[in-house]
Amino acid sequence: MSKPLILIIEDEPGIADTLQYALRTEGFEPAWCASAEAALTLVAQRPPALVILDVGLPDLSGFELFKRLRERVDVPVVFLTARSDEIDRVVGLELGADDYVTKPFSPRELVARVRSVLRRAARPAPPVPTAARAFEIDDGRRQIRFYGRPLELSRYEFGLLRALASRPGHVYTRDMLLALVWDDDSDSLDRTVDAHVKTIRAKLKAVAPTLEPIRTHRGVGYALAEDLPTQLP
Ligand code: CA
Repeated sequence: MSKPLILIIEDEPGIADTLQYALRTEGFEPAWCASAEAALTLVAQRPPALVILDVGLPDLSGFELFKRLRERVDVPVVFLTARSDEIDRVVGLELGADDYVTKPFSPRELVARVRSVLRRAARPAPPVPTAARAFEIDDGRRQIRFYGRPLELSRYEFGLLRALASRPGHVYTRDMLLALVWDDDSDSLDRTVDAHVKTIRAKLKAVAPTLEPIRTHRGVGYALAEDLPTQLP
């Protein structure tokens, strides 16, 4: 059986080396391109099973390259991001990336993500989670509707709920949420996230008293329930 080809698009040789080593150890065949141009050429010659894409490239932004790649091949993409505003764009998933990892990252964690994205890609597309229908996110108005009712949310509540509702079932750690929603997480404590989740829960409860849309994963963080009914019970 041939090994899955994983294309690393990253301009820092140190990171690329570490990744190639980790991937090779885990039974993948890594290929490395240091620029967008080289990557587009390689993809045309030999489509990879998955792409690991650095957002900050010298010749083209990772976001722009992502669009161009997707025009050519339907390949899963895991972003490497360095800044929280980059994470924001990736997580907004307006781009449809499959996953992202924040620098600095452990190569082991990244390889685990690669495996899980490949597993997911091999399966038929799951039905749209009902939770995606319970929440409507309006970024322009910075408003979220829950079963059609607009929620009165503070800035941080909006950010938190938006992140959770954008990916039902995805477990966010408190650190991830802090990085996503707060501008500077240096003096924010975990309990800030907890306190905001509490107030969001109260607002959701006011609309749907019997539902528990935000699930706590003990010792890890929070996720939006995937099994919400399509209509208010
Ligand atoms: Ca870079």
